[in-house]
Amino acid sequence: MFLFVNKYLIPKGFRGLTLYPFVILKYKEDKSNAVLINHERIHLQQQIEMLLFPFFIWYGTEYLFLLLKYNNKNHAYRSISFEREAYSNETDLEYLKKRKLFSFLRYLRKS
Ligand SMILES: [Zn+2]
Repeated sequence: MFLFVNKYLIPKGFRGLTLYPFVILKYKEDKSNAVLINHERIHLQQQIEMLLFPFFIWYGTEYLFLLLKYNNKNHAYRSISFEREAYSNETDLEYLKKRKLFSFLRYLRKS
């Protein structure tokens, strides 16, 4: 993981962005934010197991589908299976040690 700070690369309303093998943070203080770093590390793992490019296709497709469904950008973003897995487990700093492959599939909404 290559961690760096650049506030101009991070969209408004976000604090971090992961594009394997890079994690980009908006604020340098967040370099010591273990929960945020863990969240981004979960995305690194998801990207690796999806072989990178398919991750972004899936992420974007799921987001658009959820945006049409909810008509709310934040709700759609928070409902993406990759984000639900990351938000649900970001405070568990041991999560990646025990995580099973393709665990984000358990977070796909059924309704
Ligand atoms: Zn995220």
